[in-house]
Amino acid sequence: MPCTRKPAEAGYDGNTPFPRPSAPARAGIVSVALTAAIVIAPFIALGAGIWLAWGGGITLTDLLLATVFYVVTGLGVTVGFHRLLTHRSFTARPWLRVVLAVAGSMSFQGNLIDWVAVHRRHHAFTDRPGDPHSPYRYGTGLRGQLRGLAYAHLGWLFSSAPTSAARYAPDLLHNDPAMLRISRAFPAWCAASLLLPFAAGWAISGSLYGALTAFIWAGLVRIALLQHVTWSVNSLCHMIGERPHKTRRHDRSTDLWPLALLSFGESWHNGHHSQPNCARHGRGPRQIDPSAALIGLFERLTWATNVHWQPADVLGHHRAVAGKRTLRGPPDSRPAGGQGAAVRRRYSR
Ligand SMILES: [Zn+2]
Ligand SMILES: [Zn+2]
Repeated sequence: MPCTRKPAEAGYDGNTPFPRPSAPARAGIVSVALTAAIVIAPFIALGAGIWLAWGGGITLTDLLLATVFYVVTGLGVTVGFHRLLTHRSFTARPWLRVVLAVAGSMSFQGNLIDWVAVHRRHHAFTDRPGDPHSPYRYGTGLRGQLRGLAYAHLGWLFSSAPTSAARYAPDLLHNDPAMLRISRAFPAWCAASLLLPFAAGWAISGSLYGALTAFIWAGLVRIALLQHVTWSVNSLCHMIGERPHKTRRHDRSTDLWPLALLSFGESWHNGHHSQPNCARHGRGPRQIDPSAALIGLFERLTWATNVHWQPADVLGHHRAVAGKRTLRGPPDSRPAGGQGAAVRRRYSR
């Protein structure tokens, strides 16, 4: 077992700010500019979209196209990037794997191999030194929590130390040529993600104005909404909500029901952290999880096999710590082992 994480974790008590590296990592100017463009442009479009809507610049076609693109790219991230490629919750037919990877790549959340690497690192070091986007980075005082919330939501994109794909995603980098090609073509998928709504709007409305409003609503605004929902899983779903399941030491992931539908089940984040390779994140009967439902459909169609569904008795066993997390409350620090430990062992080299 390698021990590269031990110096950073040594002495961490779950409450103090993470130790600062001797040489703070800063993203290069080009990287910062690109990230800013990806993050800020959809936001500007949101303002433009609201202004347009005020003057009647939104149609039923725009809303339907925005919904379709949101669902397709969102499920590409949750079912493809996250449950299939990061955690291997199921095995997909090669064509389905490609479709999901392409759909996720159109979400403007970075190339798929970097996405997988960052997320595996998050599971390996959850809410402790080494986590790329923990809201506990600046400690558990009120000011540190607010600063950490902003960092976990957005700030980490600009200043986090780079995550090594060779270390955290060697399976995709070295043994999966299709995924590597899709990952390297990330700029093309971004272009397609904007051009397709424009083209669809033009084809349906027959006017350039219709193409432009579809571009804004089903392109930019849809991208902004999905980005912030995904980032909310990194930030809010480690601070606010319920913690009914056992997780590893320092892990403060939560279940946050208001985001369940918009995040396609990803906001059942405490359930996910307790068993990372389980295909279903929503554990209770009323915990809606559209991503798990889609994987179930794939399984019935025989497009997905080896699906890791959680047995009911194991679920009951893990339903241990009830109660709401508050902004400054103490973490549940009991170790759980299981799949979380397996992921940690596998990707902590
Ligand atoms: Zn998490
Ligand atoms: Zn995960």
